[in-house]
Amino acid sequence: MADNPLVLVINSGSSSLKYQLIEPDSDTERAGGAIQQIGEPSSRVADHEEALRLAFEQLAETGIDLNSCGLWAVGHRVVHGGKDFYRPTLLDDARIAELEKLSALAPLHNPPAVQGIKVARKLLPDVAHIAVFDTAFFHNLPAAAATYAINRELAERWKIRRYGFHGTSHRYVSEQAAAFLGRPQEGLRQIVLHLGNGSSASAIADGRPVDTSMGLTPLEGLVMGTRSGDIDPGVISYLWRAANMSVDAIESMLNHQSGVWGLAGERDFRKLHAMIESGDVAAKLAYDVFIHRLRKYIGAYLAVLERTDVITFTAGIGENDPVTRHDALAGLERLGIVLDERRNLDDASGARLISTDDSPIAVLVIPTNEELAIARDCVEVLAGS
Ligand code: ADP
Repeated sequence: MADNPLVLVINSGSSSLKYQLIEPDSDTERAGGAIQQIGEPSSRVADHEEALRLAFEQLAETGIDLNSCGLWAVGHRVVHGGKDFYRPTLLDDARIAELEKLSALAPLHNPPAVQGIKVARKLLPDVAHIAVFDTAFFHNLPAAAATYAINRELAERWKIRRYGFHGTSHRYVSEQAAAFLGRPQEGLRQIVLHLGNGSSASAIADGRPVDTSMGLTPLEGLVMGTRSGDIDPGVISYLWRAANMSVDAIESMLNHQSGVWGLAGERDFRKLHAMIESGDVAAKLAYDVFIHRLRKYIGAYLAVLERTDVITFTAGIGENDPVTRHDALAGLERLGIVLDERRNLDDASGARLISTDDSPIAVLVIPTNEELAIARDCVEVLAGS
């Protein structure tokens, strides 16, 4: 192992490629960036190969040559690991072929990741490529939380269960929360609220997840930027029959034209708050629906955990939006949650406490860092191989 190994973390989405070059030993990000609008008509970036070449050029402009900087591994974020991939996995042709088979489970998310992996292996053939799965942390969810109450044989045959996503973030943030409180994971009961463009909640006891809001796909659960979260599955068959919509059109609507954006025409919470202030009724309803769903999940997880020690907010909205944090927890003093309004409004960065010192349940804000967690996973895989 090189003295200070560097790991390049790549997160390939359908139209974007984000990258970070990380020194896991010292938790430092050496460089990073994003290539957007891949393959879109107006874009000069035709595909993921061009995007990755562009990323390498950007790194070269900052003086980093990936072939000589001591790059040790490339960590790839892969959304769906299915039933079989739940450990960080060293990639070879056979494993990539297996990964490709999972695309039916995650048609919107896995194909771009696999494409990113193939291109990165082509451009960087001499380093290890490792996949880290968003579902991994939730692999051992208790059966009662992982099982959908549908025909058992059908579910088994088609591998239908709650997989859960954002696992790298929920794991990282729950570890950081325990460290912040100076307590071991053992005995600690946590709710983690990851609120970004995609949003999910999890309940964690003794460092192990006991429930999470996303399901077979990242569509279930909380209201999100453009995703509906929970809806009556009857809506799908109704739209199919009554509106004559195809399954693909319904899926696209639920993923890309729903959520806060579907209700208000805007998904950025900074703008949403401004719209509400200017009297926009649709924006107010979108926000109220978002908060209502969030509070339902908090209530559910307080019951699932029986006793909760800490609730942690993370990701774009969770880390930066005191109004959402306030509205998510307002009036829950009798359930043991007492927010300190001054601490909540303080726009400090970094891990921080936002409940009162004597709140029975501590409330924290902790910045997530999925890239660092992926880089650390890569180091662990290679150290053990
Ligand atoms: P992603 O899921 O794409 O990683 P992020 O976790 O970065 O998303 O969250 C992005 C979202 O965070 C934005 O769309 C916006 O709604 C919200 N956000 C970012 N900064 C702020 C802020 N200062 N106040 C309120 N919301 C914010």
